Amino acid sequence: MSSNNNADNTKEVPNNLPLLPVRDMVVFPYMALPLYIGRESSVLAVEKSFSTHRYIFLSTQVEKSDENPKSDSIYRTGTIAKIVRPIRRLSDGRVKILAQGICKAKVKSFSNEDPFFEVEVVQIEELPCLNVSEQSNKLMKECKTLVEEALAHGKILSAGILFDLDSVSNDPGKFSDHLAANLGLKIEDAQCILEEKDPQERLKLVHQFLTTELEVLKLHTTITGAPKDNLTKAQREYFLREQMKAIKNELSGNKSSNSNQQANGQPGAEDTTGYKKRIEDASIPSETKEEVEKQLARLEKMHPDSSEASMIRNYLDWMCDLPWGVSTEDNLDVDKASAILEEDHYDLEKAKERILEFLAVRKLKANLKGPILCFAGPPGVGKTSLGKSIARAMGRKYYRIALGGLKDEAEIRGHRRTYVGAMPGKIIQAVKASGTNNPVIVLDEIDKLGSDFRGDPSAAMLEVLDPQQNHAFKDNFINADFDLSNVLFLATANVLQNIPHALKDRMEIINIPGYTENDKLLIARKHLINQQIENNGINHEQIEFTDEGIKSLIAGYTREAGLRTLEREIGSVCRKVAKLVVSGHKEKVVINSHMIGELMGPPTFIRDERLENDYFGVATGLAWTQVGGEILYIESVAIPGKGTLQLTGQLGDVMKESATAAISYIKSNAEDLDVELDWFNKHDIHIHLPAGAVPKDGPSAGITI
Ligand code: ADP
Repeated sequence: MSSNNNADNTKEVPNNLPLLPVRDMVVFPYMALPLYIGRESSVLAVEKSFSTHRYIFLSTQVEKSDENPKSDSIYRTGTIAKIVRPIRRLSDGRVKILAQGICKAKVKSFSNEDPFFEVEVVQIEELPCLNVSEQSNKLMKECKTLVEEALAHGKILSAGILFDLDSVSNDPGKFSDHLAANLGLKIEDAQCILEEKDPQERLKLVHQFLTTELEVLKLHTTITGAPKDNLTKAQREYFLREQMKAIKNELSGNKSSNSNQQANGQPGAEDTTGYKKRIEDASIPSETKEEVEKQLARLEKMHPDSSEASMIRNYLDWMCDLPWGVSTEDNLDVDKASAILEEDHYDLEKAKERILEFLAVRKLKANLKGPILCFAGPPGVGKTSLGKSIARAMGRKYYRIALGGLKDEAEIRGHRRTYVGAMPGKIIQAVKASGTNNPVIVLDEIDKLGSDFRGDPSAAMLEVLDPQQNHAFKDNFINADFDLSNVLFLATANVLQNIPHALKDRMEIINIPGYTENDKLLIARKHLINQQIENNGINHEQIEFTDEGIKSLIAGYTREAGLRTLEREIGSVCRKVAKLVVSGHKEKVVINSHMIGELMGPPTFIRDERLENDYFGVATGLAWTQVGGEILYIESVAIPGKGTLQLTGQLGDVMKESATAAISYIKSNAEDLDVELDWFNKHDIHIHLPAGAVPKDGPSAGITI
């Protein structure tokens, strides 16, 4: 709870406001405080306020335990507050808002009670304080001394309370409100102070409550402190611990019966013991454990609903859940691993071989650091699924981190805990999700790591992938070293050029170039079809793919180096057959090229057929595209003109130069080629590459031109 004297301009506050009944505290102006809201009607009131002017009337209900207070069981005097931070829904269903008290007000009438309260209010004006009387000054001074004494007797008050009080000591009214807001008074007492209009009287009241409070505190210290001299240290600690337990039980008992602000999930005495046990079980390294225990000790002393407590709970949960000492045992049986890799993927020999080598060496040398392999190739060639299969072959857990478009370094390395909503970075998240400290982690699309003003994630990645450093990887959130050296990192990339050089250096690149039509046919037969048949709930009695059918699917409906679209199209065929089966079709559906046409409609892609005849001016070339090789016809005509060269088909500079070079070649060898030099002065040459809308470049068409 903090104070803020810059109250909004109260003139803009409307008179009609949604009312939020508060259960276990009285809200004063100038207070900024988080509120946790559970009741549906209260949530509606908050939403209404937030969607309009953001002002809301906060008033305390007379009976804490009243689940559905009626208008007559809510105090008439309360505080108008402004919702200063967006509504946040918590995982337990409650809603959290941050409200800033603006001014006191009194309910004139209730304009609505269902589904939530709306009231017409009149603001209670607080006259500006022009000069502070002698008596007020004396009382305020005394109050500060009392606060100091209370602090010395162990009263928990907000950290900068004395400083805050100093800043309002020119206004007894504000001074009283401020002090009352921080004292944790009983509801009736606090309400009594809120309702007192005369600042001088209010100050007297606060002074009186504070005096009583201090007396109680002193009495308490006398009781618990008296036998101190006769007790040994251990006895005293035991005694105090028992007492703390009793107080906590008392608190959590009260809470469960009557609070909506503090509904769920606070650590009562058991919860903290829960943490203690979890910390013991988590085999956290000793240096780190010290810090964890320190945070736990802090948590025990905190108000369970404070934002700091929830931050510490979040931290403790992470620390306890991280697999500090949990690892899976590697399957080092090379034959078995090889069988699994073969079973999952066709070809990809180099990658498979490299993994088997790793396993073999690992068997001979137990503490071998994992290689960092990077599979590079076009989409859909099995880079990611190979990673999964490697994990299966080694008997390790698998986790994939998508790095595409990631720009913030903190996403890799985590946010410092002091940030609201801080989280560890993706690496630690991956380790936690895998539940072991030696999973296979696939860093998908490492070439798409970006960087901007939020830092350079590839720098953090360097540290993750460096075997010299990654045994002590420091995430900002957990702020302790975590050993990543047992993790097997695999990376995937589409375009190697885009990977920062230093990062590329750390990895062993394995190129997976893409598949020919024949490969695709084999992979479809061996893997994709079986999978899709199973995924769609049909069986081999109901569907059969012929080679010709698969080929026409590949040629007519896909254009890719990998297998993604093919997989999808096979899935689509299977679904259509599933529909036939459900609608009563009994015979096996044979998928040949005719059936493909019937089920899938006209083909999406039409290939350039090989030309049956040769034509003057048309030459066949080969072209490289993202999705594999293509044949390409280069067309040329000569027309009467003045010797200009025209090129069309969106050619890049390199291709244009090829054409110029070709002409120069002919000119320079005109005699041998039996061409009259004069011919070039009388003709224009036009060269066109079809598919005119697709930009083309590169040197490979040069020879054809
Ligand atoms: P990438 O990560 O390279 O983009 P994926 O791993 O997502 O590709 O592969 C797409 C699909 O193709 C997956 O279902 C995968 O199992 C399949 N696939 C790719 N290559 C092969 C292969 N060589 N053998 C078997 N299946 C493959």
